[in-house]
Amino acid sequence: MERTLSIIKPDGVSKGVAGEVIGRMERAGIRICAMKMVRLTLEQARLFYAVHKERPFFESLTQFMTSGPIIAMVLEAENVIVKNRDLMGATNPKEALPGTIRRDFASDVEKNIVHGSDGPETAAQEIKFFFSDLEIQH
Ligand code: UDP
Ligand code: MG
Repeated sequence: MERTLSIIKPDGVSKGVAGEVIGRMERAGIRICAMKMVRLTLEQARLFYAVHKERPFFESLTQFMTSGPIIAMVLEAENVIVKNRDLMGATNPKEALPGTIRRDFASDVEKNIVHGSDGPETAAQEIKFFFSDLEIQH
């Protein structure tokens, strides 16, 4: 069974679509085995998105990610990394397929409602960033 980290970003929380996003995951057969609402500091957001630190959108992205509370979750299912990315849709909501979370709810390429780990190594690393083993239900 595979695990991934999902985040409902500040825009997803403030738009009131957290329940809808979580419902889509559950209906896709994904199990939520950890969940918390937190507000990141700028330092934490910079650490989480360190892989993008040279990108032109880094400053704006990290500011956005600290602009309000987020909901971090550990998701579990077979092939859940790809399954979750499929539910999310493309990074740019204009390119995301109809019926995906980003296409349905996101306003632009930055404020795109959700984060999802992009591979097994990043998933393990990102889960550890938010959760200790004790906080994850087995
Ligand atoms: N992002 C942005 N502008 C871009 C590309 C990405 O603001 O041109 C933001 C967006 O919020 C995205 C995040 O940076 O979700 C991380 O980018 P990545 O390429 O990893 O996209 P994701 O894996 O989230 O689809
Ligand atoms: Mg990514």
